Amino acid sequence: DGMTAPTARKVLLAAPRGYCAGVDRAVIAVEKALEQYGAPVYVRHEIVHNKYVVKTLEKKGAIFVDETAEVPEGNIVIFSAHGVAPVVHEEAERGKLATIDATCPLVTKVHKEAVRFAKEDYDILLIGHEGHEEVIGTSGEAPDHITLVDGPGDVAGVEVRDPDKVVWLSQTTLSVDETMETVGALQQKFPNLISPPSDDICYATQNRQTAVKQMGADADLVIVVGSKNSSNSVRLVEVALGAGAKDAHLVDYAEEIDEAWLEGVSTVGVTSGASVPEILVEGVLEWLAQRGYGDVETITSAQESITFSLPKELRRDLRAEA
Ligand code: SF4
Repeated sequence: DGMTAPTARKVLLAAPRGYCAGVDRAVIAVEKALEQYGAPVYVRHEIVHNKYVVKTLEKKGAIFVDETAEVPEGNIVIFSAHGVAPVVHEEAERGKLATIDATCPLVTKVHKEAVRFAKEDYDILLIGHEGHEEVIGTSGEAPDHITLVDGPGDVAGVEVRDPDKVVWLSQTTLSVDETMETVGALQQKFPNLISPPSDDICYATQNRQTAVKQMGADADLVIVVGSKNSSNSVRLVEVALGAGAKDAHLVDYAEEIDEAWLEGVSTVGVTSGASVPEILVEGVLEWLAQRGYGDVETITSAQESITFSLPKELRRDLRAEA
């Protein structure tokens, strides 16, 4: 009819996104522990790396501590989804604490690999981010055998005892592409480098990156919901940009979105990290709808059905009660 249509504004919503099985289990573990034993329940470190989750659990009576030593004797302490070094279990025992270990089974799997390869006296090159809790926990399983490799730039400086007896393992929440780059560089240096028996980067991290790649290629702006200390969420921003999104930002809440980001934007991609409850994504979708981006199309790249049973210490007590 000759009239120019206004630029179509739409949202592409990535699936899968948000909670993974390990996060779901860890959060439920704290909630069930509060119901079962009553407040307060102590949690060592953020149970999962999400501000909203931590605040919500604090309101229900969880107390987050940095060190096991801060928990008064005789109390219960829950270990976070990221895993802990064996020394932390020993500290808890010395402090006469009951423990509930909410370490994700997929992190435990990497711990077991580390223990096994250390026993066989391999040098273990652990690809991961320096200072991340998961890496500290995994390294603690075999401190004398593990060397941290924080990206391709670290490879040149890596030294091992026997270049024919080296294996690489990784943090569960890395960028798949960057990790492969690091592995490639390590393989050039150590042609007999052994790979982990199965993927250490977990299914949830991989699926969320695949989804954001697919969606990000068609988006002018990608909004990733997640906290700044959430490794897998930060990776999603990088992957979105790598996939061709013109702009990408990480926000904890809708309120953190800057109106200016929407300038000239017709397609907004939305996703969330593995530690992010869906209510926060809903908040972002609402915020966008109020600004004309109400047309939402879900872009699904995989189905997820994996779930994990609650930590065994908790299952035992819940059973005893029943
Ligand atoms: Fe487990 Fe992966 Fe979730 Fe981490 S991101 S808790 S390793 S499923």
